[in-house]
Amino acid sequence: MFKPKSYKRYKPEGIYDAIIIGSGIGGMAAGSLLSQKGYKVLLLEQHYTPGGFTHTFKRGDWEWDVGLHYIGEVNKSNSFLKLLFDEISDGSLHWHEMSDVYDKVIIAGRQFNFPKGVNNLKAYLKQEFPGEEAAIDEYFNLIFKAANAALLFFMEKTFPAWVSKLIGNLMGYWFHQYSDRTTLEVLQSLTKNKELIGVLTAQFGDYGCPPSKSSFAIHAMVVKHYLGGGAYPVGGSQSISNSILPIIEKGGGETLVGARVKQVVIKNGTATGVEMEDGRILKAKHIISNAGAYITYTELLPKQYGAAVGIPGQVPNSPSHLSLYIGIDEDITPYLNGNGNFWIYPTADHDATIEAFGKDMNAEFPVMYISFPSSKDPHWKEKHPNKSTVEIISVAKYDWFKEWENDRWKHRGEEYEALKEKFSQRMLKYLYKAVPQLEGKISFYELSTPLSTKLFANYKFGEIYGLDHTPERFRMKNLRPATAIKNFYLTGQDIVSVGIGGALIAGALTAQVITGNNYLTQISKKKKDMKKLGK
Ligand SMILES: Cc1cc2nc3c(=O)[nH]c(=O)nc-3n(C[C@H](O)[C@H](O)[C@H](O)COP(=O)(O)OP(=O)(O)OC[C@H]3O[C@@H](n4cnc5c(N)ncnc54)[C@H](O)[C@@H]3O)c2cc1C
Repeated sequence: MFKPKSYKRYKPEGIYDAIIIGSGIGGMAAGSLLSQKGYKVLLLEQHYTPGGFTHTFKRGDWEWDVGLHYIGEVNKSNSFLKLLFDEISDGSLHWHEMSDVYDKVIIAGRQFNFPKGVNNLKAYLKQEFPGEEAAIDEYFNLIFKAANAALLFFMEKTFPAWVSKLIGNLMGYWFHQYSDRTTLEVLQSLTKNKELIGVLTAQFGDYGCPPSKSSFAIHAMVVKHYLGGGAYPVGGSQSISNSILPIIEKGGGETLVGARVKQVVIKNGTATGVEMEDGRILKAKHIISNAGAYITYTELLPKQYGAAVGIPGQVPNSPSHLSLYIGIDEDITPYLNGNGNFWIYPTADHDATIEAFGKDMNAEFPVMYISFPSSKDPHWKEKHPNKSTVEIISVAKYDWFKEWENDRWKHRGEEYEALKEKFSQRMLKYLYKAVPQLEGKISFYELSTPLSTKLFANYKFGEIYGLDHTPERFRMKNLRPATAIKNFYLTGQDIVSVGIGGALIAGALTAQVITGNNYLTQISKKKKDMKKLGK
């Protein structure tokens, strides 16, 4: 278990090669790759625990993940993401494959399964939707075309500005054929069957933006990501920081928690360090922000930089969410019929239900996601015998909780607690419907609100996934590692896409721009070589 230093007790000195603001997977990945190239890295995390959305927290004998329930494309030893994870963790991070059915979608009471393997999923859908065979084939055709076009688009983000000016548009051309269209537009061009559209877009919660607003590109990337099945980190998501942060230390660097950066120090258009909340200045040759584009451009940098790149304003923030963390004094695996996640929807029209709920918090929840983390981790039972965890997630408006935004954590008063309790009871009903055997067995539950996301991850409005994934987002020229400020860089989900995989690739892109080492090409080559050798 990696133990980071606390900024309260340890004040770093000297000039670092790189300071990274935020220890999300993007920041950790960039930090690991830079450390392996000899850079002395200082990773600064405002929370009391590292990892960003990969961190876990404990209550009694239970432990929960915050922002990782399943990830795709790591089940095969030669997959790009698996190889990149190996690179940043020196092969010490391991994955456990989920059950064949990784997602179970329930729409208006009818269940649909998402089985591992594109051919299995296609065959299943064709059986459930007779007469829609051609639409289903064309849908998967477009999923692959859009997701594959993303590679060139993201590679272009590492090019110097003058090269981008010359060939940037060309490299993004194919990707924009898909990213400029909404998910709904594309699906409505394939079929009139509303239930089928509801099922095919049922994973929209993974990117947080309903079909009429989301770019088809993010839909395609997320769907393709999971086609080979889901996986979960062995030992839970805190294993991610436990496997990466020692590499930064080995390279002479440090990770500090409780270390909140107030702003980036810029002299004559060049970033030279950061000012901490206590006024101390820490210096480095390169400054990287993993704090999300919104916070970076509205709080960490002088406002004129944000105005120049169109933040805030050009792209909305993603919605905020509620998470109900549940503890049970029993191994619940026998009740589950596999460890797949549930996605529960009242109707197939996700846009309409999201809109109705946004206007009235007492309307039916537009989506309910249920995950069973303890049943996904092969090491859980050793560490937590006869205990189980469940997590239930849905959307919520920040405004519903705004009146308590300045109150201290755990001191927000009775009215706030009563609101939380009301939401918790409503959410528990979905669990009992999905797994009736769990009724009466809950020993513990705690609800996190958008205020928790704001406090622990510093997303200003408790946004679940940073910037929203609309078509406009993928047209923003400045969501890339290098910025207009010399020696100042961005990393994390906003420059690639939501998801552990997206933010991880962002970390590699940022390290690539700083070191000049072409990680993406190297990993792609490794992948091809392994495939040739049949590994
Ligand atoms: C509820 C939920 C469920 C999710 N489920 C999944 C899933 O199942 N699979 C999947 O692939 N993805 C999932 N995601 C998405 C995934 O977790 C994120 O896309 C990804 O982790 C974002 O990583 P990041 O590198 O952008 O940084 P983040 O994880 O967002 O971390 C940013 C860090 O910066 C720190 N910070 C901010 N400001 C400062 C400051 N001023 N000074 C110091 N530190 C600062 C924050 O405290 C935070 O730790 C989920 C997310 C959420 C919220």
